[in-house]
Amino acid sequence: MVVDFHLGDALTLRKAHPCGGTSWRVERLGADIGIRCLTCGHYLLTSRRKLERAVKEHTHPVAASESDDPRAL
Ligand SMILES: [Zn+2]
Repeated sequence: MVVDFHLGDALTLRKAHPCGGTSWRVERLGADIGIRCLTCGHYLLTSRRKLERAVKEHTHPVAASESDDPRAL
């Protein structure tokens, strides 16, 4: 299954970061995906495939950004 990642998506990973946090946010999209730990602020660059396997929960909080309303911002 292909997971569609978007900037700003909130991720919960199966494995906790050494800081104890499991909440991450998508900050960079590309061949590799950059995520930031919301607990300690650590930035991690990882491959899409690895990330897909590591994600337990994936929330897309800004559904409004896909609206076709140009005044959304
Ligand atoms: Zn952390």
